[in-house]
Amino acid sequence: MSAEFLFCPLCATPLERSREGVHARMICPSCGFIHYRNPAPAAGLLIVDGGRVLLVRRRFDPFKGLWTMPSGFIEYDEDVRAAAVREMLEETGLEVEIDCLCAAESCFDDPRGNALLLVFRARVTGGAMRAGDDAEDVRFFPLGCLPPIAFEAHRKVLGELAKSATR
Ligand SMILES: [Zn+2]
Repeated sequence: MSAEFLFCPLCATPLERSREGVHARMICPSCGFIHYRNPAPAAGLLIVDGGRVLLVRRRFDPFKGLWTMPSGFIEYDEDVRAAAVREMLEETGLEVEIDCLCAAESCFDDPRGNALLLVFRARVTGGAMRAGDDAEDVRFFPLGCLPPIAFEAHRKVLGELAKSATR
């Protein structure tokens, strides 16, 4: 859970906790600013090739050393699909073409704050596979033999994929 603001980011007045419906929010008594807390949207890519899925190994905490689908947070002024393509290129060196949205999962286990993960199916169209940015390794894994996966949302998407692949 990410920390709440204590002071107004617009006018620096100490915020007060107020209740609006069922959600407690921090509100500025001076200028009326309301701190709405929303999950941070992230885009991920599912690349499946011959019963194997492309994963990256996390270079940094949280969950350093564990694996995920290539993914990352969407910039404020960035298109969601463009973010997915950018993260893919940064983390794996591969260029992709997006096929379709295949999963949307809430993330409540990231210590940096809650997130919303949108996962797109995609096909590799170019580039050269090489780990980069916040990935320290990139590999294809057989769906029946996945390494330790970080984040519940990634485990769920990959688990369901593995189950449907072996049915
Ligand atoms: Zn204020």
